Amino acid sequence: MAINRRTFLKAAGLTTLAGVAGHAAMELLAPGALEASGPSKVGEYPEALTAKRWAMLIDTEKFTTAQVYQKCIDACHVLHNVPHIPGDQEIKWLWTDSFKHAFPDQQHALVPDRVKNQPFMVLCNHCDNPPCVRVCPTKATFKRDDGIVMMDMHRCIGCRYCMAGCPYGARSFNFWDPRPFIENIDPYYPTRMKGVVEKCTFCEDRLAKGQLPACVEASEGALIFGDLANEDSEVRRVLRERYSLRRKPSLGTNPHVFYLI
Ligand code: SF4
Ligand code: SF4
Repeated sequence: MAINRRTFLKAAGLTTLAGVAGHAAMELLAPGALEASGPSKVGEYPEALTAKRWAMLIDTEKFTTAQVYQKCIDACHVLHNVPHIPGDQEIKWLWTDSFKHAFPDQQHALVPDRVKNQPFMVLCNHCDNPPCVRVCPTKATFKRDDGIVMMDMHRCIGCRYCMAGCPYGARSFNFWDPRPFIENIDPYYPTRMKGVVEKCTFCEDRLAKGQLPACVEASEGALIFGDLANEDSEVRRVLRERYSLRRKPSLGTNPHVFYLI
């Protein structure tokens, strides 16, 4: 049966909406509320950092100045040759958004002013149930056993179904050859080409070398990264002690980026 792009996107959207049933429209995770499980990931290199399920915590109380946000964004974008393209065709792996846009289903009159007014760091949520993966016709985007949602640029045909499928706007499309828009190309990280989609990778390349994600390293403690499946990990300890939010929990994507509030 022939299926055009409009029909496909409509079907993908309906599939996403179908996942809504049975999920709460609002979520505030109490300390210690979350458990995770999954198969072990064996690293390729002896020094590699490995986990059953990687997750990131964003401590919103520690993002107190514009510099903290910018340091994290610069660390990510410089390291990964993310081009600086002004306007609505920008490429972004890590950026800021308002509480209103980042958490549209968690608005109410009693949200504290600090939370309501401060910018929030946003990125790919490395969802457990990622609609972007479900709709990709070439399997160019896929989820690893340790939860990282990856892109294979060589398989990406630029259809942008994954962008339509992601409810977080976490993916960017290269409308142009990005290379002229990169100030200093880092020869150790591959540049992309016109016509492919890209996004945050949880720094899988750094993890493989035994390093934490670049944004985490630059954040001076405002970002915490670790194995959610390990109850002795720092991420689990902090989630036992602090309240946290996740973005758009009603969609059933099960994001693995947590906002400590
Ligand atoms: S945030 Fe978007 S791009 Fe990232 S895994 Fe979830 S659905 Fe996919
Ligand atoms: S985890 Fe790595 S790729 Fe993702 S936002 Fe942080 S620095 Fe960028």
